Amino acid sequence: MSSVLIAGSNGLVGRAILRKAPPRTDVWTPSRREVDFKDYEATKKYLKEIRPSVVFVAAAKVGGIGANSRFQKEFLSENLMIQNSILLAAADQHISTLVFLGSSCIYPKLAPQPISEESLLTGALEPTNEGYAIAKIAGIRLAKAIFEQDGLKFFSLMPTNLYGPNDNFDKYSSHVPAALMRRFHEAKINGDPEVIVWGTGTPRREFMHVDDMASACWHMVDQQVGGELINIGTGVDISILEFAMLMAKVVGFKGEVVFDGSKPDGTPRKLLDVSKAHSLGWRHRINLEEGLSQTYAWFVDALTKGEVRGY
Ligand code: GDP
Repeated sequence: MSSVLIAGSNGLVGRAILRKAPPRTDVWTPSRREVDFKDYEATKKYLKEIRPSVVFVAAAKVGGIGANSRFQKEFLSENLMIQNSILLAAADQHISTLVFLGSSCIYPKLAPQPISEESLLTGALEPTNEGYAIAKIAGIRLAKAIFEQDGLKFFSLMPTNLYGPNDNFDKYSSHVPAALMRRFHEAKINGDPEVIVWGTGTPRREFMHVDDMASACWHMVDQQVGGELINIGTGVDISILEFAMLMAKVVGFKGEVVFDGSKPDGTPRKLLDVSKAHSLGWRHRINLEEGLSQTYAWFVDALTKGEVRGY
């Protein structure tokens, strides 16, 4: 692997891929100002200049259930623009390997659990993130078509719900791990008696540390898995109620947890079947409580330095 491009290197996943880069790898991490990946011509020009052998597509418009449901237009169209331009420009430049990243919400809302890769396009999507999901499904199919037509090793990895350092802690657009870490932390500092958690607490989610995702990215590039769609997760899920209790423990919040049933629950469950990833020799390593504790230590430190995104 001589030279690698991480598109979206400033985000949660992109930064973790960079942290986990094998020694002596030449890694390109352009900022949005250097190259706008929504712009096909600019992307092609950039790829022509740097000529990477591997591209990770971690650039995307992402957000939690609140942002996703309110801004379907942007989640659908911006993701289509970013991925079309990177995948087509990379194919045009005969880049040998490309890893397209999405999320487990691409699967039907009521897919049998755990969700295998074969469930793709077998049923209706969860409405709160349909725009994002439709864009990502188009990207998966485009990577597959490029593999089949051009013989380039383009493939897709679908992670479960991720958390970790450099997550987005914005009050409105964050995912549940960052949202609750922030809320419990602030309640602890302010001595508040209770913390509000969205929904009923009954939905189940599978949470994985982003460093495990990054290790899967590098591992699958080594495996040369062109054309595939592969789930990446822990194979274990917990309810939002249990997750909130665990977060309260990690943060050290001793007050009450109150559920706000007027906020959306989203899909009832989305546990991934990770047997394909296991058969390819990858497994997650970081236990949830340990990973959350490590992320909380990072968060407290980053807060003092003013380095938390969304603050
Ligand atoms: P999802 O997996 O795509 O639904 O992504 P989220 O991380 O946004 O939400 C996961 C679950 O956590 C949903 O059932 C939410 O209702 C629930 N949840 C509870 N509190 C919060 C919160 O403060 N922010 C977010 N984003 N979700 C929350």
